[in-house]
Amino acid sequence: EKTIAVLTSGGDAPGMNAAIRAVVRAGIFKGFRVLGVRRGYNGLIKGDLVEMNLRSVSGIIHRGGTVLYTARSPEFNTEAGMQKAIQVCRAHNILGVVVIGGDGSFRGARDLSERGYNCVGIPGTIDNDIACSDYTIGFDTAMNTAMEAVDRLRDTSQSHDRCSVVEVMGRRAGWLALRCGIAVGATSILVPEAPFDLQKDVIDRMVENQRAGKQHFVVVVAEGVGNVSEIAKEIQTRTGIESRATVLGHIQRGGSPTVTDRVVASQMGYHAVELLSKGIGNRVVAMKADKVVDYNISEALQMKKPFDFNLYQIAHDISI
Ligand code: ADP
Repeated sequence: EKTIAVLTSGGDAPGMNAAIRAVVRAGIFKGFRVLGVRRGYNGLIKGDLVEMNLRSVSGIIHRGGTVLYTARSPEFNTEAGMQKAIQVCRAHNILGVVVIGGDGSFRGARDLSERGYNCVGIPGTIDNDIACSDYTIGFDTAMNTAMEAVDRLRDTSQSHDRCSVVEVMGRRAGWLALRCGIAVGATSILVPEAPFDLQKDVIDRMVENQRAGKQHFVVVVAEGVGNVSEIAKEIQTRTGIESRATVLGHIQRGGSPTVTDRVVASQMGYHAVELLSKGIGNRVVAMKADKVVDYNISEALQMKKPFDFNLYQIAHDISI
């Protein structure tokens, strides 16, 4: 029987379940047997597979996390690990694998494709940091979660005339910080893509705003920029405004996915299965100008996604 498999790998993101559901349903619709692989590439190495049917993905479209669990698998990076995974694929007649994850997971998908097992990647990460795609599954939900959390912080910093310095996720990417920062009306937004001067871009702006009557402040900082406690301390020392640091952390990864994440996940999952059903592998599914497209994995990994400096400038100009 023609068999495909689906797995989630690397960091989880809301909407991964909607993608799994779409892969399973589209796969069965196209006449495949569909296997779910537990805990990313670890499950492929160990043969931790579960047969999926139409009902095994019932009632998951609205749930955060991933019902297949996810993991990082250092062993899959080794030739021995790869060979074990290939044996499992062979034993179960798997002719293609849909891999939902980030760039690291796509490298694994490319390596497996090059050994004759067609893999198709689907971008699933809250960071929106997949170069070939305008959008990644989980980004919209994470932005909304972060926005709601900062709104709450803003209420209390307003009551106390304080400055709230909030760290949102994004070690190498400021997409989440930028959009969340605009949405909460942050005074300053600090992202790894844009160099900044704490005095000029944060302190001076706060002092100017304070003179103009503003009494509370929100500074949104992407994780990769630096330690928010130190930034808050520095702001308090230099401005005299009481400042508190908050790290939002993993709450940004959870929760029920938004409409956008569910719909994009459904479209991408369907597209991935269409590719496999045509015997095409070594591709990443992507969103380009609201269209679902796909790219060769190696080419996709070499692409660069320019940061939205235009939006960054708008944020700067309207936050006075
Ligand atoms: P993400 O997919 O979110 O970027 P990671 O970078 O942790 O997450 O990658 C997830 C998994 O993908 C790794 O644990 C590993 O099993 C696999 N992987 C990462 N890089 C490679 C690589 N160069 N070759 C093969 N597999 C890889």
